[in-house]
Amino acid sequence: MKKAIILLLLMFILISLRADITVKFKGSPDKLMLQVSKIDDIDYFKLRELTNIFGGSYREELNDDKLRLSLYKKHLYFMLESSYVNFRTDYYSYIYNLKCVDGHYYLPTTFLEIVAPLIFKKEIRYDAKRNLILAEIPDDDAIRTIVLDAGHGGKDPGAVGYSKKNQEKDITLTLVKQLKKMLEDNLDVQVLLTRSKDEYVHLRKRTKFANQQHADMFISIHLNSAKNKKATGIEVYYLSTAKTDEARAVEQMENSVVFKYEGGEEAIKEYDSLDFLLADISMTEQLAESSDLANKLQTNLITATRTEDRGVKQAGFYVLKGAYMPSVLIEVGFISNKTEEKQLADKKHQKKIVKAIFYGIKSFKYQVDNI
Ligand SMILES: [Zn+2]
Repeated sequence: MKKAIILLLLMFILISLRADITVKFKGSPDKLMLQVSKIDDIDYFKLRELTNIFGGSYREELNDDKLRLSLYKKHLYFMLESSYVNFRTDYYSYIYNLKCVDGHYYLPTTFLEIVAPLIFKKEIRYDAKRNLILAEIPDDDAIRTIVLDAGHGGKDPGAVGYSKKNQEKDITLTLVKQLKKMLEDNLDVQVLLTRSKDEYVHLRKRTKFANQQHADMFISIHLNSAKNKKATGIEVYYLSTAKTDEARAVEQMENSVVFKYEGGEEAIKEYDSLDFLLADISMTEQLAESSDLANKLQTNLITATRTEDRGVKQAGFYVLKGAYMPSVLIEVGFISNKTEEKQLADKKHQKKIVKAIFYGIKSFKYQVDNI
């Protein structure tokens, strides 16, 4: 009897010693508890409990011995049996190893104390004294902010029309302004422009702006041009290192801006140093999303305009490098072709293009938003 009481007492002490973490969400009176348990005398919590409380999800990527955690729209990669987590291009240590016990993943509480506030600066605050996490209400993955980029501008006219009357920079700006209005009038989104007047904006500043604004999508609009004046049609690009000769030619044309207007070789070297981003594991998923978005846009554009389908392609555009969100570049037609130049300058045709891009974005958004 005595033994039983002592045992009960011991259990009670052990339970009360276990320092579960209180989670409070801003603007909500509710308190949730994240259970903490000891493994090798270190405080751990179950990853499943974390995603239950904060939303988000995780999945094993066993080919790479990695665990991918998505939280507040950010993707973190944990290495199994290691104390490091990769986010974008940085690695963070949370001191003790990630553990797998009976098929459940456990993270040490040091992850919440040390690393989480660095990665989730705005979303998670840890109060060590009160053993409390104060967090933003988890956001869904909905697409809310879209950045539209009108190609070229200012000193850089882009491609010049067959008739020499029209310039790429003017038509792209017109299209982007119309698209912004249509998106904001019909979808629950905020649309930001990299330029809203005839000015030159450095290519890198365009994606930097999108990153700073936490955009969920980046769309750059251009007009195509070729030496062969017979060339026609629409193509949508997303970022890649893989190329065909034709894609390389378009890439060269669009990238030549850097050489001409941004200080030549030195600037190109700087942009090329961004190539490492392509090797970053978190890019893989983004590329899949970009490819999906590109396909939706291409299908809609071809159906609406009935112009030649040049397909979805991959190329290494500087303007897309460094964007941390699904991003595509659309060539909406050939300004170097006599007939297409006329169409591209025509208000009715412009409306068709804008509508088609709008529907492409809408269907991508609904898919991502799970509507
Ligand atoms: Zn262009």
